[in-house]
Amino acid sequence: MADESVQREALVAAVENVAARIESEKSHLTDLDSAIGDADHGNNMHRGFQAVAEKTDEFEGMDVDEIVKTIGTTIIGNVGGAAGPLYGGSIMTASQELEGGITAETSVAFAEAYLEKVKDRGDAPVGAKTMVDALTPAVHTYKKSVEHDDLPPLTALAKAVDAAERGVNFTVPLRASKGRASFLGWRSVGHQDPGATSTLFILEEILDTAGEYLEGETDVEAVAESAPDEDPEEAQ
Ligand code: ADP
Ligand code: MG
Repeated sequence: MADESVQREALVAAVENVAARIESEKSHLTDLDSAIGDADHGNNMHRGFQAVAEKTDEFEGMDVDEIVKTIGTTIIGNVGGAAGPLYGGSIMTASQELEGGITAETSVAFAEAYLEKVKDRGDAPVGAKTMVDALTPAVHTYKKSVEHDDLPPLTALAKAVDAAERGVNFTVPLRASKGRASFLGWRSVGHQDPGATSTLFILEEILDTAGEYLEGETDVEAVAESAPDEDPEEAQ
């Protein structure tokens, strides 16, 4: 990606876009959490990302990895619940991978370190009906697209967002075995996981922001190939 000042600008834009999205989805996330949790996920995430958005003035003059670390610590200090340490602590740890700036290579390392930390802290395997169910396919898709398929990062990110969306849908029929939703046992079946959903929203905003900064660097055909057919009959 471009030089550090453009990367810093892109990070500020990403933070603003994520904060605005979380704000507009606050009651949606709370509704999801009221079905299988304690109805605080929208408020938790909103409080955290508002606090991050208020810190963007401090980003001036900071290195990219320091900025991302600050985002993590601010989330830890403001989100609370299960999601706070999972999101914030994992961002904080993974920020080390961005020393020297954001490249295709460091972004893959960041994504992998982030996923590892979430799994470490939360001890949730895929299928436990948590954010891990959206995150795992997204990170694996991103890594494979960059490293194996040699796709531009923006294309890889678009594929990762598609994968996360499928992961969110995958949480609906699952019985939760981790987090607060697990207390409901079978009654958690049929509901979409709030943390997987907020993970998707954040990834969508990162993709949108990356699109503004990496314009013209998408392999549109590769994205189209990866998208499942919306209407299988029409596709025949
Ligand atoms: P709390 O459950 O403490 O009220 P939130 O409502 O903010 O916290 O966040 C709930 C979300 O956190 C869940 O929807 C789920 O995605 C995620 N989560 C909960 N426990 C775990 C875990 N052990 N591992 C990964 N994610 C988890
Ligand atoms: Mg909750």
